[in-house]
Amino acid sequence: MKIGIIGGGASGIFAAIEARKKYSDITIFDKNDFLGRKLSSTGAGRCNLTNVNVSPDIYRSIKKFSFKDIIQRYDYGFLNNYLNQLGIHTYHTDDGWVYPLSNSARNISILLEDYLIRQNVKIYKNSSVSSFKKSNNRFQIKTDSGKVFEFDKLILASGGKAYPQLRASDEILQSLLNFGHALLPAFPALAPLKTSKHETKSLNGVRVDATLRILDHNSIIGSDFGNIIFTEWGLNGPGVMNLSHLVHQKNNLNIEIDFSSLLPQDFLKNVSNDKFLYLSTPLLSIFNKKIIDQLLLNLNVDVNSPFKMNDFRHLIKMMKFTEKILGTRDFEFAQISTGAIESSQINPESLESKLCPGLYFAGEVLDVFGPCGGFNLHWAFISGIIAGQLKS
Ligand SMILES: Cc1cc2nc3c(=O)[nH]c(=O)nc-3n(C[C@H](O)[C@H](O)[C@H](O)COP(=O)(O)OP(=O)(O)OC[C@H]3O[C@@H](n4cnc5c(N)ncnc54)[C@H](O)[C@@H]3O)c2cc1C
Repeated sequence: MKIGIIGGGASGIFAAIEARKKYSDITIFDKNDFLGRKLSSTGAGRCNLTNVNVSPDIYRSIKKFSFKDIIQRYDYGFLNNYLNQLGIHTYHTDDGWVYPLSNSARNISILLEDYLIRQNVKIYKNSSVSSFKKSNNRFQIKTDSGKVFEFDKLILASGGKAYPQLRASDEILQSLLNFGHALLPAFPALAPLKTSKHETKSLNGVRVDATLRILDHNSIIGSDFGNIIFTEWGLNGPGVMNLSHLVHQKNNLNIEIDFSSLLPQDFLKNVSNDKFLYLSTPLLSIFNKKIIDQLLLNLNVDVNSPFKMNDFRHLIKMMKFTEKILGTRDFEFAQISTGAIESSQINPESLESKLCPGLYFAGEVLDVFGPCGGFNLHWAFISGIIAGQLKS
């Protein structure tokens, strides 16, 4: 039995590791000059491998979410144990983000490639697959150099469109149209947002936690609490990236950046008319001065206004900025892309195509994604493992 894998990223590598447990003839093709090229750039170079809090309700999809059961079964405990057996030892932060002890993403891709070489997996690097088809019950794949290879089973693990600077592209998915598979349009996700900058002009470079709400007219269509960075074109940082999938194909959305949740609960207890000279002084221990000054400017309040309790109560109710969303930044700045292959045509247990037996999918080519924090690599690894089991 010959197994072919298109894509030697996070999901393709794990598909190969798992498939090798049952089969001896495994071949991986990847465009890049080493396996796990994107993996080696993850987590700002540290590789946020998974998250202690993985659960199905954290994940999203563009159409129907079909993978609840497998995410439930292949949880953090399962994956961490699997990683340990490969010699990858981890630690996690207080909020559950899991990293290798080495804090090195590049080390992880070297270690995994080393493992596959020792397992005699055939690895074709700098090898772009231009098309694949099935004839006489076998899969034929063609590479850019014109070579044709034949396999009994094929795993498509070619990733999404995010970070084309690492040669990410979804062109190979076009071959799926011949099998009748429907493709959902890909959009940048976990991406920064471009905004109008009317109320936050002076804040470039400020990094802060805030509650963020995406507003469609007056209804909230998504919210998150997290770290954001104000930039000259809009907003960056995990808090805002986690909401970016909500903005595609929608006009007139606004983002509300609300700081009120940062005020300690008993904050007003220690604030009184006799304690502070200026209206803004009590906020100085909590917020960057640029935020306070911009807030006062937006409210038309002089920075030197004297402290008055009633005015202060009003001020802290108004501790938010609202900006018009102009769109996400492009794939070059996104960590993942949404869309890919329509899930209803895939067996949710085995990740095998319902339209083409013997064809399996793993990773970002499937319609599922999570927020920042290790959830997307978790999905790539476990879906690779499931596809690699090659269950029919
Ligand atoms: C900068 C950045 C940081 C990130 N940080 C994190 C993080 O810390 N934690 C986290 O959970 N997620 C992170 N992500 C997301 C994570 O990297 C992806 O979810 C994950 O890599 C998806 O795995 P995959 O195997 O589906 O795709 P990929 O890892 O992209 O692998 C697909 C592979 O297929 C190859 N390929 C594509 N087409 C062809 C073809 N036609 N022929 C041959 N080869 C082909 C590509 O070269 C690529 O190597 C980050 C993403 C980026 C861009």
